[in-house]
Amino acid sequence: MAKYTGPLCKLCRREMTPLMLKGRRCLTDKCAIKHKKYPPGPPKKRRIKLSDYGVQLREKQKIKRSYMLLETQFKRVFEEATRLKGVTGENMLVLLERRLDNVVYRMGFASSRLQSRQLVQHGHVIINGNRVDIPSYQVKVNDTVEIKEDYKNNAILEDAIKLSKAVGSVPQWVEVDYEKRNGKIIRLPERKDIEPIFNEQAVVELYSK
Ligand code: SF4
Repeated sequence: MAKYTGPLCKLCRREMTPLMLKGRRCLTDKCAIKHKKYPPGPPKKRRIKLSDYGVQLREKQKIKRSYMLLETQFKRVFEEATRLKGVTGENMLVLLERRLDNVVYRMGFASSRLQSRQLVQHGHVIINGNRVDIPSYQVKVNDTVEIKEDYKNNAILEDAIKLSKAVGSVPQWVEVDYEKRNGKIIRLPERKDIEPIFNEQAVVELYSK
């Protein structure tokens, strides 16, 4: 699967929003956006006032980069969202939240979405008793998510759990048993469960052009 391999903090600075792409570091004073409160690039370009299109594009990039997707992957999610009943923008966010790599991250078994994607791709995640190594797998209500036996005592996993406990970031639509290294989807995510920093309507307007 193709993936972004460039500098992560630059993505946050481009969107002028902490996208929390580096786990523990994002919560420290080393977070780049706390020191450089301006987008990357030459000063002249930074001052340009955005058009409506520019605002919509930035919103799309912000959501896409938060979930660490490339353009084609993100567009595919959006197209699926348009086929579902309900509000397209909200459908899109719910589909993004239901991705297995996001769920593992939300449950606290990884400190960033990049780390959780690696966990999934390396076959360390079990869904309903079966190994699933597809990061885009859509979880359903009552699905059980478990970390594979031989990874349960891994130091990176323990560090991620420690961080998750400290931040208290597990959403209400999942339940987690840190000791057993497993969790369950108790309901599907709703818009109110997802970060308010996203303006999904801007993405809908962008793709409607
Ligand atoms: Fe973004 Fe984290 Fe880097 Fe801060 S440390 S700029 S939140 S990736």
